[in-house]
Amino acid sequence: IYILGIESSCDDTAAAVLHNGKILSNIVATQEVHKQYGGVVPELASRAHQQNIVPVIHQAIARANIGKKDISAIAFTRGPGLMGSLLVGTSFAKSLSLGLGIPLIEVNHMQAHILAHFIEEEHFKKPTFPFLALTISGGHTQIVKVSNYFEMEVIGETTDDAVGEAFDKSAKILGLPYPGGPLIDKYSKEGNPKAFPFPNPKVPDLNFSFSGFKTSVLYFIQKQTKENPDFVAENLKDICASIQFSIVRILMDKLKKAVKQTGINQIAIAGGVSANSEIRNALMEAEKKYSWNCFIPKFEYTTDNAAMIAIAGHYKYLEKDFSDYSITAQPRYKF
Ligand code: ATP
Ligand code: FE
Repeated sequence: IYILGIESSCDDTAAAVLHNGKILSNIVATQEVHKQYGGVVPELASRAHQQNIVPVIHQAIARANIGKKDISAIAFTRGPGLMGSLLVGTSFAKSLSLGLGIPLIEVNHMQAHILAHFIEEEHFKKPTFPFLALTISGGHTQIVKVSNYFEMEVIGETTDDAVGEAFDKSAKILGLPYPGGPLIDKYSKEGNPKAFPFPNPKVPDLNFSFSGFKTSVLYFIQKQTKENPDFVAENLKDICASIQFSIVRILMDKLKKAVKQTGINQIAIAGGVSANSEIRNALMEAEKKYSWNCFIPKFEYTTDNAAMIAIAGHYKYLEKDFSDYSITAQPRYKF
């Protein structure tokens, strides 16, 4: 089975080819135009997708060393994401599927982040069902009970900002460029995580809230800068480490609660923020301390990519779960 995956939900245009769940190619074109605006500009994103999509798909097929006729089905991201961005991938996937006369398979982007764990990789253990997925990305923060490939239930989520936004907005307050998450991670490595305490917001059940966290960072920096205009420059590493430590503590506290509540101690992390080194460390510690069984994805499958769309497509293909051509992009696609 050869699946071509197409991802265009936000600001990365991506295509990948999987053969029986194994990666033959995985191409991502990251849009640089947004950097100067400090965030993704939807209108510019859809234009860049229009420019990139044909070359990216060509490259994915060429790199896979197959012909278009070898492809068994086309999997594409239907949502959630930006409408203009999703439309480009959705329309292209439909046309290509129609042109080649092969099945079309719609994929939920957040399920795909989780299913990235099932890409065939040597030396990587796959989670077994049921497991809990902590999905932490630029637009989402969810704890998902995964009972099967497509039997997933969101048992906790953010009531406002996503954890990726907490990283990126905190970074912006510190004057770091977008996306700031990876930079906070980098500076944290040499900082003291206990230097500046940030509060752990009280949110009921398994839900999260990060808008208050961002505000507390803003007030703290404003107050300190008033006393010492060079406060950020002089303490950047300690501030980053403290922010990262606090965010990871928030995530781990809820995860512990979820494990207690569900009795499931198999944990997989997914989404862009799962690239973060501190959350990875925290999980590896929890593995020893609480005898959890933790699954940490390879870096290239954490942020947006099309291999995860293709693997989701692969499992739907096995079920013959195909889409018809009346299907439309779904910016607020829930599962
Ligand atoms: P969604 O999947 O919810 O639609 P998205 O696709 O835009 O959102 P991803 O690409 O999965 O999000 O993740 C991007 C986010 O991951 C950004 O907020 C970025 O700052 C964050 N991120 C990436 N690497 C790291 C890191 N090492 N530490 C912290 N955050 C990181
Ligand atoms: Fe994503």
